[in-house]
Amino acid sequence: MLQAAPGNNPNPAMRRIVRPSAWKFALLAGFVTQLLLLIFVTAIGLQQLEVATDKLNQVVDVHMRKQTLTKTMMVSARERTIFILMLSKTPDSVERDNLLIQFSKNGSAFGMARQELRGLPLSIREQELLALQGQLTNASQPLQLQVIDLINADFIEAAEDLIRTQAIPKQNQVIAALSQLDAEAQKVALEASSRARDDHEMARKWLFLLSGTALLIGFLVAAFVFLYASRAGRARERLSTEDTLTGLPNRMLFMDRLEQSLIRAERHATLVGVMFIDLDRFKRVNDTLGHASGDQLICEVAQRLRAATRAEDIVARLGGDEFVVVVGDIAEIKHILQVVEKMLAAVAAPYQIAERELFCSCSIGISVYPHDGDDSGDLLKYADTAMYHAKSSGRNRFQLYDPAMNAMAEERLQLETDLHYALGRNEFILHYQPQVDLDTGRTHAVEALVRWNHPNKGLLSPAVFLEMLEETGQIVSVGRQLLETACHQTVRWHAAGFSHLEVAVNLSSKEFWHEGLIASVQTALAQSGLPPHALQLELTEGIFMESMDAAVKRVHELKALGITVSVDDFGTGYSSLAHLKRFPLDVLKIDRYFVKDVQHDPVNEALIRSILSLSQDLKLKNVAEGIETQAQLECLRKLGCQIVQGYFISQPVPAAQLATLLSRDWLPAFNLAHQVQPKRQSSNAHRHTRASDLSESAESTEVHSATQEQDACPMKPKLLPT
Ligand code: C2E
Ligand code: MG
Ligand code: MG
Repeated sequence: MLQAAPGNNPNPAMRRIVRPSAWKFALLAGFVTQLLLLIFVTAIGLQQLEVATDKLNQVVDVHMRKQTLTKTMMVSARERTIFILMLSKTPDSVERDNLLIQFSKNGSAFGMARQELRGLPLSIREQELLALQGQLTNASQPLQLQVIDLINADFIEAAEDLIRTQAIPKQNQVIAALSQLDAEAQKVALEASSRARDDHEMARKWLFLLSGTALLIGFLVAAFVFLYASRAGRARERLSTEDTLTGLPNRMLFMDRLEQSLIRAERHATLVGVMFIDLDRFKRVNDTLGHASGDQLICEVAQRLRAATRAEDIVARLGGDEFVVVVGDIAEIKHILQVVEKMLAAVAAPYQIAERELFCSCSIGISVYPHDGDDSGDLLKYADTAMYHAKSSGRNRFQLYDPAMNAMAEERLQLETDLHYALGRNEFILHYQPQVDLDTGRTHAVEALVRWNHPNKGLLSPAVFLEMLEETGQIVSVGRQLLETACHQTVRWHAAGFSHLEVAVNLSSKEFWHEGLIASVQTALAQSGLPPHALQLELTEGIFMESMDAAVKRVHELKALGITVSVDDFGTGYSSLAHLKRFPLDVLKIDRYFVKDVQHDPVNEALIRSILSLSQDLKLKNVAEGIETQAQLECLRKLGCQIVQGYFISQPVPAAQLATLLSRDWLPAFNLAHQVQPKRQSSNAHRHTRASDLSESAESTEVHSATQEQDACPMKPKLLPT
């Protein structure tokens, strides 16, 4: 109840979307790439800018210096002319000496500037102009010295004449060359600065381009990460609210919607129906056809439930084979029941799964707001309790919640607790039901059936507790003890003279697959001394189909111990002939479902015929279970059934009461004649009944008269035409 069943594979599409580690990795990778790119771009940009700035600085420094030097030279050259003119006009010798000192200083300033200029990077044109200036200066300087000599010798007129005719024109040529040099220097400076500006511009462009690219990539990465993260987030959100197999809302979303429905219903004073749906015998489909088929069935049921309800109704899957449906805005309970009927019919329609036709029913529990409660959790719990009742009263039905059910649920809980101590307190006992060979009329074997001798509730049948034992896994230790008891008891019957009596012990799936099974059987046989051939283990078809190869291997291991193996409830599972052929079986037990109407239902009769012919083909013995009437017995005998078991012969009884039944010749009791010569010597032919021995050794002292039941049977045996 209210548990998720394992084994449902999540939707592969969902699996593809949600990989939290993947998007985290993408996020990290995106940011690292962007960071590296930005560092790279910044480094390149800075380097480019530095180069451009250096160039610019160089251009500025060199060309400024060049211009300064050229200007200094020009000024010196002009001043030189002025000094010579002033010398020629100055009569005072002291003043003349001062002028001469300045003239010579001016000469050295000119020389130093020129020297420095030559050391700077010059263009070819600049070098040519400087060389020209050098030549012109070389030509003008001797003239100037000549003028100074003439002035010093007071030949002023001659000096002025020389100044006017030669010295000044020559000096003007020097100045003109310097002026050209200055213009050239300016031109070169302009070109250099323009180049530097271009480089700088280029660096700036590169910086913009690269940082723009980095930004774009960063933007793309961020957009991608954002999209990916939001997609993963949406998928995670969906996963947390959606059942991955069916796409229906899961429990979380369901509870939320149920609460909203209750709020709406309170406002509009309407009813809300909560239906808890559980598939009947779903485990058998899963065990027999595998989880993939089980999943397919679940999906199909989900679709049918969705189709059977209105769009505004809530259909959710709680897990395993449990669904829940909420119908709101309902005026009368009968409207809820109409939906329920529709869902029962929808689920019960045949399914095509794994190329087979399958039938599946469901049990539905219903709680109604506000009659049963106003809390969503309580309503769900009550619907679940009601579903449990629907299930225990026969499945494929619905059940409205009744407060009395709570007490029953508590009782079940108490039973589960009691079950925990039952094994330690030896409360499990065996009853035995005879299987009669119609050829000999003797009890050929007995089936051991467990009962729980509950301290307060009395004798309980397996229907009440077997499932709980299986759920908790206690079935393994309980089964082991029962097997030992059955073997010991049969040895006592052998000792009492029924030396060919066989005992059939039921095994559940958990017991069959338990790794200690072979050892348990060996121990039970060894400790009791029961010959292995007298022990028969009954397995259901579902077990065979769970894992075919492993099951074949295990049955071989059991057979190797010398025991016999039978298929119980044959015909109710989904096993096919081809599969059965792979198992080394001994007996097929026809399920009582087919026996029930055999004399009226031609389909059941045909089925039994085919099972009997199958058992003949496979050289298996057959046993018909659940014979309740003389008519069924007669019918089965006519069909060729060899061994029969059922209430008509005897109910399962404690060992002590079986003694009288073992010595009985049943054919007269059935009003049947010994029609066929026994194929094998009946075990009963050798018997020496010691009933007193049997009652002493019987494990149970409970009084349960099979003969009385037999006598009280309303169906009086009729004479059979032989
Ligand atoms: P099963 O192995 O198919 O046993 C036959 C069941 O049918 C028994 O129910 C038996 O009492 C009942 N039965 C026999 N004849 C008739 C009849 O004529 N009419 C009707 N209506 N029923 C008849 P029981 O004892 O309640 O056992 C139910 C199931 O519980 C068994 O079905 C078997 O699968 C399981 N079981 C019983 N004992 C054990 C046990 O010791 N270990 C395990 N693992 N399972 C057990
Ligand atoms: Mg059985
Ligand atoms: Mg059976």
